[in-house]
Amino acid sequence: MAGTLYLVATPIGNLEDMTFRAVRILKEADLIAAEDTRNSIKLLNHFEIHTPMTSYHEHNKYEKADELIKKLEEEKNIAVITDAGTPGISDPGEVLVVKCHEKGISVTSVPGACAAVNALIISGQPAGRFAFEAFLPTDKKERRRVLDELKEESRTIVLYEAPHRLLKTITELCEELGNRDATVLRELTKKHETVFKSGLFKLREYYAENEPKGECVIVIRGKSFEEKDAELRKSWEDMSVKEHLEYYINLGMDKKEAAKKVASDRNVSKREIYKYTIGM
Ligand code: SAM
Repeated sequence: MAGTLYLVATPIGNLEDMTFRAVRILKEADLIAAEDTRNSIKLLNHFEIHTPMTSYHEHNKYEKADELIKKLEEEKNIAVITDAGTPGISDPGEVLVVKCHEKGISVTSVPGACAAVNALIISGQPAGRFAFEAFLPTDKKERRRVLDELKEESRTIVLYEAPHRLLKTITELCEELGNRDATVLRELTKKHETVFKSGLFKLREYYAENEPKGECVIVIRGKSFEEKDAELRKSWEDMSVKEHLEYYINLGMDKKEAAKKVASDRNVSKREIYKYTIGM
């Protein structure tokens, strides 16, 4: 029997958010794999946790995962913690979890704070469907690709951002998404937590004059289906009936289906459209 890997969430700014279970699991584990041991020692001291620690971070996540797997196979229980929040969410954890699955080692979570979820639920944006994009890529080409995708995203978008890059990112979002409704949430769970919901243009104006402090999450309303339909409708207006039919045929519809769709888009009878399919 191998040991168990525990992914343990820790507070994102307020020590009172540590759960009873997190404290117990960290006390009972044989080893704690921490993103930054110097940072985590403060948390462990506060809760009188004396379990040995080892470092497990972005730069040793592959080699160290093998070492940790070996210990799990020796029936040791290991708890993963990061500097703040939930391991595996823009933080180390995933590589180790995948390896545990490969080896048949049991993995479980000890839930708690996660900036993305905590931001979303108080953002005032629709929380029913959301796309977590984490940090936008720093590589220009990749960033472009992701921004292009986000432009069409209909779910609420959740982004992580560092305070010194907030203005640059909001400025880019303004250019790509226009004046979409959005919320910037700073210093969640801390004394100076702020929640600022507004159009992206106003957010840009505000942060250009008020340099943000503390970590932030940006939550942006997705593109509504109504907006998408309106855009599509506008593009049909510029198309001939034949081009409109071709558009659906190129999407894989047969002539009959395409004619039906075009008739419904243009609010005219099917018979009127069928005649355009002759010879197509
Ligand atoms: N694993 C963490 C989690 O579960 O939220 C996220 C780690 S990621 C490296 C750090 C980012 O999370 C920050 O740059 C910020 O975008 C967000 N974040 C973390 N703590 C936050 C807080 N208290 N308030 C606002 N955003 C926070």
